[in-house]
Amino acid sequence: MKTINFERYARNLLLKEIGQEEQEKLINARVLVAGAGGLGSTVIANLASAGVGTLGIADGDTLELSNLNRQYVHKFNNIGKLKTESANEWINAYNPDINVNKYSSRLTQANSIDIIKEYDAIVDCFDSYKSKFELNKTCAKAGKPLVHAGVTEFSGQVMTVIPGKTACLHCLFNNPDPDAYVIKGILSPTVSLAASLQSSEVVKLLLSLDNKLMTNCLLSFNLLDNEFRKIKVEKSIKCPVCS
Ligand SMILES: [Zn+2]
Repeated sequence: MKTINFERYARNLLLKEIGQEEQEKLINARVLVAGAGGLGSTVIANLASAGVGTLGIADGDTLELSNLNRQYVHKFNNIGKLKTESANEWINAYNPDINVNKYSSRLTQANSIDIIKEYDAIVDCFDSYKSKFELNKTCAKAGKPLVHAGVTEFSGQVMTVIPGKTACLHCLFNNPDPDAYVIKGILSPTVSLAASLQSSEVVKLLLSLDNKLMTNCLLSFNLLDNEFRKIKVEKSIKCPVCS
């Protein structure tokens, strides 16, 4: 059990949903952030701010200049460094209460199950559809909740998957659009909005505010026309991943 500097979290504690007991739950929670890029930057910043005590950061990439239009936990001076190292540096400087576990090789179905088992919740901050679907499978196998987000151009989507209970990513997209694999433009606000929604889902999961989770429902938005839609999703009885 960690000692908590409650002053740091004073504004968390003013929320009626968060008392000292809930703040302790957050500090003792373990969340795996899969991908330390655009979505990962905001998720890392939000969860380290909220006081989620252990963050696993998984990313095999090194920082490139073209990442810096959106991946704001990484500094210009860290170009060429592993993103896990660069993210760890930001977290240590911002909130030294947080333990960081770095996983600097690409998470695959083969190497990730033992890692995933160590965490209370997994956040899908990957940018490749292949990695997202692999992560969905491994989380289903490990019985761990997954908070998914995807972004492209001005659009984003968010959904929380509770194994054995709710629809998974595969129920929703059993035949992903090949167009989804093409790298497109993106602005920081689109990514950070999707990642903020993910962060809020993670905090609610950790505090068991389950009834308010984005489950069996995909929140989709487009910032060009400011359209937000909640799309009902059914768990498929034929889903090879979750049924
Ligand atoms: Zn499924």
